[in-house]
Amino acid sequence: MDHNIQIERSTNLKSKPDESKLGFGQYYTDHMFILEYTEGQGWHSGRVVPYQNISMDPAAKVFHYGQTVFEGMKAYRTENGIKLFRPKKNFERLNRSNARLSIPQIDEDIAYNGLIELLNVDRDWIPSTEGTSLYIRPFIIATEAALGVNPSQNYLFMIIMSPVGAYYAEGVNPVKIHVESEYVRAVAGGVGEAKTAGNYAAGLNAQEQAKEHGYSQVLWLDGVHRRYIEEVGSMNVFFKINGVVHTPMLNGSILDGITRNSVITLLKYWGVPVEERRISVEELVEAHNKGELEEAFGTGTAAVISPIGELSYHGEKFVINNGEIGEISGKVYDTITGIQTGKVEDPFGWVVGLDS
Ligand SMILES: *Cc1c(COP(=O)(O)O)cnc(C)c1O
Repeated sequence: MDHNIQIERSTNLKSKPDESKLGFGQYYTDHMFILEYTEGQGWHSGRVVPYQNISMDPAAKVFHYGQTVFEGMKAYRTENGIKLFRPKKNFERLNRSNARLSIPQIDEDIAYNGLIELLNVDRDWIPSTEGTSLYIRPFIIATEAALGVNPSQNYLFMIIMSPVGAYYAEGVNPVKIHVESEYVRAVAGGVGEAKTAGNYAAGLNAQEQAKEHGYSQVLWLDGVHRRYIEEVGSMNVFFKINGVVHTPMLNGSILDGITRNSVITLLKYWGVPVEERRISVEELVEAHNKGELEEAFGTGTAAVISPIGELSYHGEKFVINNGEIGEISGKVYDTITGIQTGKVEDPFGWVVGLDS
């Protein structure tokens, strides 16, 4: 396998967007990384090229059968240079998703080196305003033009990058969440623990309906019993009940979030009791009624922490912590964002410098 990464620089650089108006995933940097897979040859021809359209046969398998996986991570501009947060974890998870979707394993070092080369070429795109970052989207698509339902013989791995704005431009604001009792996101044995397109397409209608009723996201329940908490939107979820932090255990249908893992690690480090287990929605209602549901929050790369101020379930509303961000939620948010931006000591070696 050829590990050499060719670099073709753009001769037509774009102007950078206004850092106060970045939003999420609206602008893309000048370059992208591409790596190809050909059956019999493996992954090859890794290269950084100008950001461009790709041309594909309409029969490419990704369009028909959704054989595709993705990742999401961020780069931060800090006082001590450009930093990534636990980046190897993303490539490990990409390969776990690959395994589930019958996509060949990628060499994690080649993928990681491709990212580093791309970041080096586009380093000026990493915004510096407080709260902003460069969102990184590695993904793989099945490109073989053949309609038979079997794994593709060819794939494209790409990395694209987008400068994104502060998630909480007006301060961390707790959101209202609808507990979804009609639709399910995933079931154990399905593809819920893989970061693959179909999970997100399947969740759009529930999300749209929740929005129509004034909720920003849905809380997913398990697909079998329709009782146990899974995730909130595309985030993992945590509840503080009577001083103990609880999060659903990984059960095959829940995505193994890197932020989730970081939050659990941090809580344990602080000596805050944390439990990974099955949590039913009835238990949450009961805890709320006893005044013991103290905090709730989602976790994911985009927001880091998204506090939940209200849950609605079967037409009833449960306000959590007066609709305000809780103490643990705030402390976790400040610490993880502080570690990411180099303002808080990193006792776990989570942060990786681009130039070190
Ligand atoms: C990506 C994702 C998460 C969060 O994972 P992080 O690694 O923390 O960003 C949680 N749930 C779903 C469904 C996701 O796709």
